[in-house]
Amino acid sequence: MNRLAKKVTLVTGAARGIGESIATVFAAEGAVVFAADLNSDSLAGVAERIANDGGTCKPLELDVTLREDWERARDVIARDHGKLDVIVNCAGIEMVRELGELTLDEYRATQAVNTEPAVFGTQVMLDLLTRAGEDSDGGASIVNISSIAGLLGIPDQIAYNTSKGAVRHVSKSLAIEFAHHKRKIRVNSIHPGCIDTPMLREAMEAWAETGKMGSNDINDVRDAFAAVCPMNKIGATRDIAMGALYLASEESGFVTGIELVIDGGSYASWV
Ligand code: NAD
Repeated sequence: MNRLAKKVTLVTGAARGIGESIATVFAAEGAVVFAADLNSDSLAGVAERIANDGGTCKPLELDVTLREDWERARDVIARDHGKLDVIVNCAGIEMVRELGELTLDEYRATQAVNTEPAVFGTQVMLDLLTRAGEDSDGGASIVNISSIAGLLGIPDQIAYNTSKGAVRHVSKSLAIEFAHHKRKIRVNSIHPGCIDTPMLREAMEAWAETGKMGSNDINDVRDAFAAVCPMNKIGATRDIAMGALYLASEESGFVTGIELVIDGGSYASWV
């Protein structure tokens, strides 16, 4: 408990899935959580549930692709707290398209949601992060949720693969830029394998519908996804949240520019 006491945190994509779990764990560890998402209805439910459990969660309607939304969020956080200790960039969209079918608009939309906020959201929040960094031993922390798709190629995912590969490199680039300029802001990426979330469930439904994985039964598709993992299972959102907690906390004060893979061994495995 209280591994994030007095920390002001912002989690994007917090209305469901991995982002919701990170917001929940952060609040349970004593953080003030600004939970941001496009989906304000679900967000209100998340904030209410966290508050009922004794946490502090403030919902923020924010489209991560819009600079004016980031600026509005910055003004609220500056007014209420004057600093921002942690950003978790978790909002994301998947794009499954063979190259021949991918449009330029789809490609750009994927980068706009998955990659650009890690650059321009950080830019908008830079003064608040710098202030938080000066006030703490461990420094401020940015945690960017990439994917094992940011480390490996996956068929029919050129837009998603490149967006997540760029998230990995944005993290390393900013980690080194900040260290070089003596800004106490650490930046790291997390690379989840298959995690049980609405995004994954929607993907499995789509695969079942096409039958491309050899079956139209969603349970067979789920088994096939699990079988890709050496531990033969699909991870839980909390598996990722616990990694984000470590990178957000003072415990990782000497950790910047790393890629934390949480995937049941998938990336380590040849088969
Ligand atoms: P999800 O679809 O269940 O949740 C994503 C959330 O992001 C949603 O609440 C959605 O409203 C929000 N969002 C989408 N576009 C947004 C925008 N423009 N502005 C603000 N919010 C927006 O997805 P998830 O599975 O929880 O994934 C979370 C992150 O983890 C994503 O970046 C995803 O790429 C990554 N990831 C997921 C898996 C997995 O297996 N689930 C694996 C690797 C990486």
